[in-house]
Amino acid sequence: MSAIGNDIDHAAKLLSEGEIVGIPTETVYGLAGNAFDSNAVAKIFAAKDRPAFDPLIVHIGHLSQIDLLAKEIPKSVKSMLEELWPGPLTVVLPRQSIIPDITVSGHEKVAIRMPSQTMALELLRNLDFPLAAPSANPFGYISPTKARHVIAQLGDRIPYVLDGGDCDVGIESTIIEPMGVDCNVLRLGGLELGKLAPYFNNFNRMLNKSSNPSAPGQLAKHYSPRKEISVFERKEEFPESNTATYILFDSYIEGIPEKNQLILSKKSDLNEAASNVFSFLRKADEMEGNEILALKLPEVGLGPAINDRLYRAAAK
Ligand code: AMP
Ligand code: MG
Repeated sequence: MSAIGNDIDHAAKLLSEGEIVGIPTETVYGLAGNAFDSNAVAKIFAAKDRPAFDPLIVHIGHLSQIDLLAKEIPKSVKSMLEELWPGPLTVVLPRQSIIPDITVSGHEKVAIRMPSQTMALELLRNLDFPLAAPSANPFGYISPTKARHVIAQLGDRIPYVLDGGDCDVGIESTIIEPMGVDCNVLRLGGLELGKLAPYFNNFNRMLNKSSNPSAPGQLAKHYSPRKEISVFERKEEFPESNTATYILFDSYIEGIPEKNQLILSKKSDLNEAASNVFSFLRKADEMEGNEILALKLPEVGLGPAINDRLYRAAAK
C-alpha cells in the first residue's frame, strides 16, 4: 500500500530512483515519473492501464526547460507562457529527440505544462529532469482531486502519494497546439479560452476526435463513474426518479429530497463548480441509487470545460 505524506525530498528521491509517485497539482492529482526514463514512464502506463497510444504531458519547473523539450518555439508563444505559466495551460510543440518515444506515444510533438501548485513546483525545481504525469486514476475513470482518491484507486500500485490537499482548479489543463497566428484547442480545461484571445487570431476546436486515438483527452467517453449518468439541458427534462443522485449547478430542485442533490456551487461560481465536479461524481457513484442525473451548466467561463467532463462521463 502507498505511503501518504508531505515529504517533497522523499518524493524526489523515489522519482530519481525511477519510481512513480502521486503528486498534487492545481488541476488534478498526477501520477508522475521521470519523463526521460522509459522504464519509469512504462510504470505509469502500467499502473493506470493506460493505452500506449495516449501521450503524457511533461511537467517542468522553469520556463527555460522548455528549450530542452521542444524546438521551433515562436517568440510569441514564449511570451504568452511567461504570462500564463505556471497554470492550467498545456502547449503542444515540436519535440526534441531527448524525449523517449513512449512518453509522447511516438508523436512528433510533446505536450508541456508548468503547474502552479506550490508542492509540485518545489518538487519540479528540486529535480534535474522533468516529470511525465497523467491524472492519477485508472484510465477512463473519474480524475482524482484529493490524495485519498489516488490511494483508493492506485494505492497498491505506487510507493508514495505526496499530499498537497484539495486541487484548487479541479479539472484538467486546457490543451492547445499553436499553429502560427491560429491555435488548435485539443482539450477544454482549467484556463478559459478567453484568456488566450490576446495571443491568437482563431481557435479551431478539435475536441471530438474519437476516431483519432492519438488524443484520448478527446475520446468521446472518459472521466466516467461506474453508474449510469445522463446530462440534461433543462431540469424539466429530468426523468422521474426517487433514487437518482442529481448533480446541479447552484440550486436545489423542489420536490426531490435534498440529500439526493449535490450542488456544485451555491454561490453560482463556475470556478468552485469546477473544483467540485470530479469529487461530486465520485460521491454520486458511492451513494445509494442506481443512476446519476446532471444538469448542464451555463456555457460561460469554465462552464464549457465542466460540461465537457459531464458529457464525456455520460457518453455511451
Ligand atoms: P492527461 O490525460 O490529463 O494526462 O492528458 C493527456 C492528454 O494530452 C492526451 O490524452 C492528449 O489529448 C494530450 N496530449 C498529450 N501529449 C500530446 C501530444 N504530443 N500531441 C497531442 N496531444 C497530446
Ligand atoms: Mg486523465
